Amino acid sequence: PCTDFDMAYFNSYAHLGIHEEMIKDRARTESYRNAIFQHQDRIAGKVVVDVGCGTGILSIFCAQAGAKRVYAVDASNIAVQANEVVKANNLSDTIIVFHGRVEDVEIDEEVDVIVSEWMGYMLLYESMLGSVITARDRWLKPGGLILPSTATLYLAPVTHPDRYSESIDFWRNVYGIDMSAMLPLAKQCAFEEPSVETITGENVLTWPYVVKQVDCYTVTLHELESVSTRFKFTSMMRAPFHGFAFWFDVEFGIPVKYPSNNNTRTAFVESPNNQNTDGTQRKKRANPNDALVLSTAPEDPPTHWQQTLIYFYDPIEVEQDQVIEGSVTLSQSKENPRFMNIHLEYASNGRYFVKESVMR
Ligand code: SAH
Repeated sequence: PCTDFDMAYFNSYAHLGIHEEMIKDRARTESYRNAIFQHQDRIAGKVVVDVGCGTGILSIFCAQAGAKRVYAVDASNIAVQANEVVKANNLSDTIIVFHGRVEDVEIDEEVDVIVSEWMGYMLLYESMLGSVITARDRWLKPGGLILPSTATLYLAPVTHPDRYSESIDFWRNVYGIDMSAMLPLAKQCAFEEPSVETITGENVLTWPYVVKQVDCYTVTLHELESVSTRFKFTSMMRAPFHGFAFWFDVEFGIPVKYPSNNNTRTAFVESPNNQNTDGTQRKKRANPNDALVLSTAPEDPPTHWQQTLIYFYDPIEVEQDQVIEGSVTLSQSKENPRFMNIHLEYASNGRYFVKESVMR
């Protein structure tokens, strides 16, 4: 059933501004276009479903790549404009716009390809991946293509002295007045909730850790209810440790059939050379298919997703080679299933910390 939470969510996508921001994100939009044309041989003459078509842009790319038919589905009122755009581009014979949820609409045939731009902040915020899973299980032919094919969520400890001083140390001297009395409130206001902002590779203390790897061909709803991992980092430098950053990348690979179990799975090989002894990942991962990658990492060009930061109220001084260990759990909020609880536990130098936050 469509809940009030869903209504609010779909209403947010009725505003053009959000689509404008996504479309103007060239790293995002060009990655999808390039991926669609890279896989043209699997799209031309085939049936595609675009899960959450928004303005219809990805459906149109698929039509340009020669798709026989594209079902463009969106529950938001933006579907009305998508339909107008399709008509104005004389694509009504190819692209069929459905104004409804993928969970509810009826498509009377199986599809060869699913394309969807479902990724939220820190990958899983918004919980839209569940709708891609639903579409896959309802309509995708065995051996069909899903774009993107895999997604990986990373975590790394960061230092960000400028951010800390501009939000916190600022209150120590305001026009010559000591406003340190504000510090507890300033810390709470600045750092209670996750913060979406752009950092650079220089803010990152060491190699990232893989929190979750999603194979879009096999991932289940159950697997996404709660994502949890332990981590262990070794700081590469002496620095104030201000918090953790999350980011993700997605790959547009092809499914490969493993004859042994007949499961389709994206060819994805973890090269042992990319794995550090503490389990962190060194860029870049092995990519045997030369699959196209859309990355939102701090060292890559910025995207509208930026990075998601969880700051501590007070920095922790770490030495070079100091170990930071802990665990992270991401789970759906009881308050609103589209919100995400982030539970972080971490220890360094015998001190132990817990940080709970909610991404709203
Ligand atoms: N494909 C477009 C828009 C991506 S934003 C582009 O790349 O520019 C995601 C879109 O998915 C939003 O418009 C949202 O309304 C839609 N959406 C999310 N969940 C959905 C669901 N379950 N059914 C239908 N549409 C959904």
